[in-house]
Amino acid sequence: MALEEHSLIHILDAVPALLWSGRPDGRADYVNRSWTIFTGREHRDLIGAGWHNALHPDDLRRVLDALGQIDRNARDRQMAVRVRDSLARYHVFLIDIGKNVEPRDGSSSFYAAAIEMCNSDDGHYANRALEPDRDSPWTRIPVMMWSARADGYLDFVNERWTQHTGLPLDEARGAGWQSAIHPDDLNTATRAWRKLIESHTEGASECRMGSTEHGYRWSLSVAHPLCDDSGSVIRWYGAVLDIDDCKRAEDKLRLNQDYLNDAQRLTQTGSFAFDPSSGAFCWSREMYRIYGYEPSTQPSLERILARTHREDVGSVARMFDQIAAERHDVDIEYRLLMPDGEIKQIRMLAHPVDHRGSQYRYAGTVIDVTEARAADRRLQEAHADLAHATRIATLGELTASIAHEVSQPLTAIETNGAASLRWLQRDTPDLHEVELAIERIRRDARRANDVIRQLRALARKDVSARKSASINAVIRDAMLLARSQLIRDHVTLVLDLATGLPRIDLDVVQMQQVIINLVTNASQAMSGIVGRARTLTVRTLLNDRDGVRVIVRDAGTGFPDDHNETMFTPFFTTKPNGMGMGLSISRTIIESHGGTIWALNNAGHGAQVIVDLPGQEDRVVWRDGQAG
Ligand code: ADP
Repeated sequence: MALEEHSLIHILDAVPALLWSGRPDGRADYVNRSWTIFTGREHRDLIGAGWHNALHPDDLRRVLDALGQIDRNARDRQMAVRVRDSLARYHVFLIDIGKNVEPRDGSSSFYAAAIEMCNSDDGHYANRALEPDRDSPWTRIPVMMWSARADGYLDFVNERWTQHTGLPLDEARGAGWQSAIHPDDLNTATRAWRKLIESHTEGASECRMGSTEHGYRWSLSVAHPLCDDSGSVIRWYGAVLDIDDCKRAEDKLRLNQDYLNDAQRLTQTGSFAFDPSSGAFCWSREMYRIYGYEPSTQPSLERILARTHREDVGSVARMFDQIAAERHDVDIEYRLLMPDGEIKQIRMLAHPVDHRGSQYRYAGTVIDVTEARAADRRLQEAHADLAHATRIATLGELTASIAHEVSQPLTAIETNGAASLRWLQRDTPDLHEVELAIERIRRDARRANDVIRQLRALARKDVSARKSASINAVIRDAMLLARSQLIRDHVTLVLDLATGLPRIDLDVVQMQQVIINLVTNASQAMSGIVGRARTLTVRTLLNDRDGVRVIVRDAGTGFPDDHNETMFTPFFTTKPNGMGMGLSISRTIIESHGGTIWALNNAGHGAQVIVDLPGQEDRVVWRDGQAG
């Protein structure tokens, strides 16, 4: 069958591409037969604005915008869109939009061609009849078209094809078209073409087309066989789209994706998207590595929970339930238990992002913090060792006064014991006096015992252990050891402790160490002061974050000017026998409790050190987020 037997419109109807034309307002006055076959809709339902219904709603706006701007934009426009087939499945098409100016009145119209990106084999375009019914200027259609005999002999190319390759039909005829293919792609292209001719099936291939003179551009070529009733090929029809820009964008995207993968690998950070309405997940490559799944695995909540440590499964499942029901920011740390028994510490952060109007999705990251947490632990242990060493040193400094603190009740016990004996040895023992003396003995013994208990607690090298405690009780206990130092320095202690304060998760021994440091510093700062009262006030109150504030205020020398921060650096001291570790260790302890500590000079005399401690928190934490 020779080409001359078909009008151009036959080719338009036969090419495996959606072709249509119309006005810049998006109303079509022509749609080719491929439209009706692919979408399963009648021609009359596609004409005008009818074709809009076959496009994915999210993509239609972009296409209509491009058509609307065709007057201003002389260049062709390309974009990927989703088109719904007769079974309501979406397929991705590459649309190419071209502009035509009517010679009669100078008005603009558009020509558009769409080729399916991944050609499917389900025969949308198969066995169509040819119904020439229209005359049109389609030789300028923005898609390259060609047609070949059943044996593969090319006998037609349109104007666009010639423009693109620089080859007129005469030179392209037969196998002449091969000189328009990039030499590196020629083998692949001819092999693909031969395979189609042998298999009588529709197919597509990508190659670079053009010339050495004008350069090559990536093109997507689709070929479709027209068969007779017996299934023999009568003729081939093809369409070629210039996909060079897409290809470059794709290469750039792939390169960026590679960079992102490398960056995620290096930082051990995976990223994911989660659609709460469908429960669907999308994972980056690093997410698969962290969770120990093959990249071919379909990610799901079940897969996440399957790897989650038994003790953390409940809180993770609850968290996903809640973020599916309501928008929340997520910041959660939990453990994974891998199939080989390895335990990983994971931090997950996620944020809701708007998606299609009222709907939202989550974008998130998962960071493998196992090594960081192990390093944190080692650092904490080192700090604990240092804190212990300085505690021992502080106790060494306090030994003289503590010894006094213990020997004083012991002496009193001895005195009261001797007195009791005397009351008993009388002719008429005075049992009432004896009872009073024994009561005093018990009180003094308890006092000595408390001091020794406190001393032993501070000297012990406990692994850090937190428990819910009252800050006022911690301060009172610490005062047992610090009191004698205050007496020696002639300091008056005022305890101004608020009632009804919340309990706080504390390492009690460490917190006592902080109080002793601050109180001994204050006492030492006042030891040389004459002419004013040496008053030390320890005050507690509720802070503005529902936590507790402790203020240790003295009337001493005050901090050396501008040194308010330097004092917190290790080994900074102005004392002849000072170690310069007290404030530095105190800051480490307070910060490890999530609190802050700072110092300032009073308006009059002396200085104060202020400690803020947060209220109690759960171990697995996730915060409520703001909408959007
Ligand atoms: P040390 O007491 O061994 O010097 P610290 O870290 O506890 O170590 O204190 C560092 C320095 O900060 C002290 O040497 C002193 O100069 C200053 N300092 C600390 N507390 C006070 C205070 N209440 N008043 C004045 N200066 C203080």
